[in-house]
Amino acid sequence: MPSFDTLPLKKPLKEALKRLEYTKMTPIQASSLPIILENKDCIAQAATGSGKTLSFGLGVLERINPKSFGVQSLILCPTRELAEQVAKVIRSLASEIGNIKVLTLCGGVPMRGQLHSLKHGAHIVVGTPGRVLKLLQMDAFDPAQIQTVVLDEADQMIDMGFIEDITSIFGFTPTDRQTLLFSATFPDSIQVITSELMRNPIQLTSNTPISKPKIEEIAYLCNKKLPAIAQILHLHAISNTIIFCNTKIDANALCEDLNQLGIHALTLHGDMEQFDRNEAIIQFRNLSAPILVATDVAGRGIDIEDLDAIINYEVPIQNERYTHRIGRTGRAGKNGIAITLVNSYQYDRFMELNRSITPQELPETDDFSALETLMRTICIDAGKKEKLRPGDIVGALIHECGLSKEEIGKIDQFDHLSYVAVPRAKAENIYQKFVKRPIKGKTFRKWLLN
Ligand code: ADP
Ligand code: MG
Repeated sequence: MPSFDTLPLKKPLKEALKRLEYTKMTPIQASSLPIILENKDCIAQAATGSGKTLSFGLGVLERINPKSFGVQSLILCPTRELAEQVAKVIRSLASEIGNIKVLTLCGGVPMRGQLHSLKHGAHIVVGTPGRVLKLLQMDAFDPAQIQTVVLDEADQMIDMGFIEDITSIFGFTPTDRQTLLFSATFPDSIQVITSELMRNPIQLTSNTPISKPKIEEIAYLCNKKLPAIAQILHLHAISNTIIFCNTKIDANALCEDLNQLGIHALTLHGDMEQFDRNEAIIQFRNLSAPILVATDVAGRGIDIEDLDAIINYEVPIQNERYTHRIGRTGRAGKNGIAITLVNSYQYDRFMELNRSITPQELPETDDFSALETLMRTICIDAGKKEKLRPGDIVGALIHECGLSKEEIGKIDQFDHLSYVAVPRAKAENIYQKFVKRPIKGKTFRKWLLN
């Protein structure tokens, strides 16, 4: 694959790519970027994990005029998590340009803060369709300068019933805009957008990326699924996995059942408050919970790397969902396994998925050693806005609580909150010492999450 150097990108973007250690383009980047940089409309279909974010991120940033304060680009995503993730990637790509404001506007967060931020101006808005439309209808920002509109994970947005909101949003944007559409699958329903809202779009598919990760698919026939989970975790030496359920109710129930079995699990679904969703993802990523029990909507688009495996607790109702679910594993060039549990009622449904495998009997094991949870999370009631730095947290844990640097896990920070993972076995003890100690002379509140 060609390198990013072959592209006509401005210097700060090339520098950012170098700093982020991206050298060679992925196949979808190599095919879409030359077109995107010519300001043409583009439809790009490529599997999850193929690097679509960088394609539109670079395209959008190349056109941004930092000196002009008005929303110049609008990126629509299906979920808040995905919007936050896209915003993060764009901010890091923009870091060498300086003074580019990227604002996320998503539902489920109070509108007041968003209105306030919009008053200060933003170059790029990343948001979910419902909230973006509401803010446009309230005249909260001026869309007249928008030059690029991006639909990320378009299939999922349509799946979630956002089509009308999206169409209305387009009504607010200038007709000479550039429209970019990204999707992992390409259902017929997308054509409403591509034929009516895009101008001579160039359609690209990247179905065989060179570095395509190998996903080994396995289906097990079992009528008692809960005990099968423990067995499968052991059999495949899985230490970190997402288990997909078809409904929120199933996800909650399975999570409770797993916890009763002593398997530490957290749920992630669309009905949860933003705050709880963030906390679940943070605890999953920092190894404080080895299992995330998720529904399709919540599980989509989140770039969780190093996933050994995903497990389908139920056979998905739609074929596309199966593709998306298994795309969670084997990301960024790593191999993964995707396991589906099939009971006798679901056998025919599984066969309709048209995979090249047939459900097999689950091999017997007699070792049911519990899945170990390595870390536990401490939450601190202060974040970036309080100028609490990761180094301050590390320093306090080393000097006040006797931890060594190597023992300290991932640190995640928000404006007013920080999370740090510490070894689970020592967590209570560390917390007792940590809770009373000031950090940088201030006593912040702290919680030990479960
Ligand atoms: P998609 O949106 O297609 O599902 P993402 O944009 O989330 O995929 O990218 C998936 C992963 O691949 C991310 O971790 C990203 O950092 C990585 N990635 C993207 N482009 C490149 C590249 N050119 N070289 C190496 N890694 C890349
Ligand atoms: Mg993506």
